[in-house]
Amino acid sequence: MRHRIIIHFGELTLKGQNRREFVKKLRQNVRRKLQAMGYGPDNGWDVVAIHDRMFVEVPAQHSDDIEQVLQAIAEIPGIAWLTHVHWFSAKEYDIFSPQPELDFLDQLIEKLGQESYRDGASFAVRVKRADKRFAIGSKALEQRLATVLLKNTPWKKVNLKHADQFFYVEISSRGMAVFTNRIKGAGGLPVSSTGRVLTLLSGGFDSPVAAWLMAKRGCNIDLIHFTANHVRANDLESYKVSRIARRLSEIAGKVRLIMVPYTHFDLALMDKGLDYDLMLFRRFMAKVASRVADELHAQALVTGDNLGQVASQTLENIVSMTKSIEYPILRPLLTYDKDEIIALSQKLDLFEVCKEPYKDCCALISNNPKTRTYHDRLQAVEERFFPDYDELIQQTLDERQQITYLFGQRQAEKPRAQAVETTASSEPGDA
Ligand code: ATP
Ligand code: MG
Repeated sequence: MRHRIIIHFGELTLKGQNRREFVKKLRQNVRRKLQAMGYGPDNGWDVVAIHDRMFVEVPAQHSDDIEQVLQAIAEIPGIAWLTHVHWFSAKEYDIFSPQPELDFLDQLIEKLGQESYRDGASFAVRVKRADKRFAIGSKALEQRLATVLLKNTPWKKVNLKHADQFFYVEISSRGMAVFTNRIKGAGGLPVSSTGRVLTLLSGGFDSPVAAWLMAKRGCNIDLIHFTANHVRANDLESYKVSRIARRLSEIAGKVRLIMVPYTHFDLALMDKGLDYDLMLFRRFMAKVASRVADELHAQALVTGDNLGQVASQTLENIVSMTKSIEYPILRPLLTYDKDEIIALSQKLDLFEVCKEPYKDCCALISNNPKTRTYHDRLQAVEERFFPDYDELIQQTLDERQQITYLFGQRQAEKPRAQAVETTASSEPGDA
């Protein structure tokens, strides 16, 4: 018997011509994710795509790790659902003999029955016989296996139509597949199939969820974060925002986090008594992020903005940030309720790290932010008080640091000039 994970694509099947490309990306993402977990071709793992699904061949020596692998793969965007299949090849088990010897199947169903039993739940056995050379009819086999479960396991309640637990057996010309319930995947589209975005990542709950939503729609996500102070190289990896980036990369593949201290902006603003602080800062973030987006070949910026969530998140302020730059700013959370965002954050295992206190950011944000600002006026203020805005951006970018993850593993940084050149083509690190 062999263990296999079968992956179904969901929306991918609808995508006509692009489908091949999408399947290729998904396969690459699944492979890299497995490799990051230590499961690669060199220790017997293989990921194979056939027309409407994908198989992960699990080597026998790793069969105890399947549960963990299933959970990890289920997070990868582009997967509708997946199952752990026990596979018996027709040759090895002689399932097409006139009187097939099916003890192996009884034993497996009994084992699966023991493992999956829940008090009070009902079950059903479903058999599909695609190859009629198999000598036992599907109804007869369903009855036989249901009897095994009723006799040898705690399962007592059968419910053919609306069972809580299904046991499936599928017989094809190649062999027999046995599996229980499907595991729901993340849905969406494979990362790297729709574009690249740069997310403004704060230390809060919203922006990581916004980045994830974009990854789920197939975007490569890079991140930019503004800190009050320069972060020491030794502290970079344990830094709260880096840990958020690492967790996002476990799902989204290659993720670069660019950290920039905003000390130069702070200095420029000092003593000017400007009461547009917060919006000037947001526009500053947008302008710096635009420059980084140029370098990374990102097509849009993303924020965790949410209409009306805090006093400053008015439509006027959102518009005056939008108008400060040429890149479009996408705001996937704009219309969400806070409890929906928190629920997602919890589901994604981001909640615990996001709720850690974070003092290092946004000391500058005023206690009493302006709720209605307008682009023209802010632009006039900027021209007057920051006559050399380009220089301000350049000084800020000179102090940037970068940390890169690939499916949760830290990558060595390339020298910057070189890094910029190689991002244009989709080279192997680009998941
Ligand atoms: P979040 O929960 O993401 O922190 P928030 O509700 O606290 O969002 P704000 O602090 O007003 O909202 O920030 C709005 C958006 O601006 C954030 O979602 C994020 O995209 C961006 N942002 C805020 N602070 C920073 C920062 N220090 N670095 C990068 N982006 C930031
Ligand atoms: Mg915040």
